[in-house]
Amino acid sequence: MLAESSMSDITFKKENTFCFDSESFRYLVALQSDVSFGYDEKTEYEHSWSTSVKESNRLIDYINIKLIVYRMENGWQSIKHAQFEISYMIRPILEAIRNILRNTILWNTTQSNQQIEQTSKPVSFNASRCRSCKGDPDEVGQFWILLTRSHEIQNNSSTCLCNLDQHVPIEYSLEYKCSNHTSTDFGKRMVDTLKCMYQASAIFSHFLIHTAFARKDDPFLTGFREMIAEETYLCTSKTPNDFNRLLLQELSDIENKYKQETQTMKSADARIDLPAIYELISIIGGICLVREQLVAVKKRHRMIIEQYDKMYGLLFIYQFKIRQQFYNVNYYLLEKKKSIDQFN
Ligand SMILES: [Zn+2]
Repeated sequence: MLAESSMSDITFKKENTFCFDSESFRYLVALQSDVSFGYDEKTEYEHSWSTSVKESNRLIDYINIKLIVYRMENGWQSIKHAQFEISYMIRPILEAIRNILRNTILWNTTQSNQQIEQTSKPVSFNASRCRSCKGDPDEVGQFWILLTRSHEIQNNSSTCLCNLDQHVPIEYSLEYKCSNHTSTDFGKRMVDTLKCMYQASAIFSHFLIHTAFARKDDPFLTGFREMIAEETYLCTSKTPNDFNRLLLQELSDIENKYKQETQTMKSADARIDLPAIYELISIIGGICLVREQLVAVKKRHRMIIEQYDKMYGLLFIYQFKIRQQFYNVNYYLLEKKKSIDQFN
C-alpha cells in the first residue's frame, strides 16, 4: 500500500513515514475542560504519548541524518499555495474594482479632484457577512455605499435570524471617506488599472477552475453579481441615486468584459504556468488599493494565530516538552497546572 502511494521521485515507505497519535493531544485538551479519566484511560493516553515522542525523535533524526539540504532558487511555489494566495485576493480585487469605478465616475462627471478613499479594518475571528441582511447605507462623495455589517457566528447561530448558509466569512470591514488627489493623469491611470484587474481576475479564475481544480464555480463572477445586486438595491432604496446608477452600469459593463475574457481563455484551453501566476499575484497584490486590503487580511491572520496560541497554549507546551525530551508523561502532568499558569 505504501509503495502504491509513492510519488514520482519520492518513495513512500516506513523509513520516511511517521505516525503521531492524536489521543494524547485530545487528552490534554479534555483535561483543560476538567474531564476526569480512570486509570486504564490514563495508561492508554500515556502509551499514546510515548508513541508520539518516539516518532517525533525518529522524524528529527531522519531530517538531521538522512536528508540533504535542498536550495530553492525562486522561493517556494506550488499550485496549492498559489490557490490560497488567490483566494485571499478575490474580495480585495473586486472591492478595488468597485472603488476605482466610483472614482472614475467622479473624475469624468465632476472634473474635480475629489476621490473616495477606502480603508480596511480586520474583523474578529467569527465575523461573517450576511447575504440577506443589508448593511447601513452611507452617503460618501455623492455615492450611497453599503457599509460592512459584520455578524458574529457563535455555536452555529448568527446574530440575525437568517440561515447560516447565507453567511460568508469576512476578514475585514471597509470604511470610506472623501479626500482629494493631486495626480494630473488620474483618469487614465484608473482606466489602465481597471483593465489590468479584470483581465487578471479572469486568469486567476481560470487557474482556480482549470489548473488547481480547486473550484467548480467562478468566485469572481459570484462577486461581480453580488456587487451588482447591492448597487441595484441602493438604486431602488435611496435617492438621489444618479451616481449609483452610473456605477451599476459600469459594473455590469466590467462584468461582461470579464466574462468575455474567461470565455476566450476557456475556448483556447489556455494553460497558465506557475511562475506566470506568481508574477501576476505579485503585480496585482502591489496595486495600492489591493495591497491595503491584503495588509488587513494578514493582520487578521496574525490575530487568529495569537488567539489560537492562547486557546491551545497547552499543545504548544506539549511540543516544547517533546523538544526538551521530557519523556515521562506523569512528570509532565504534575507540571501541567504550573505551566498553564505561566502561559496565561
Ligand atoms: Zn442576516
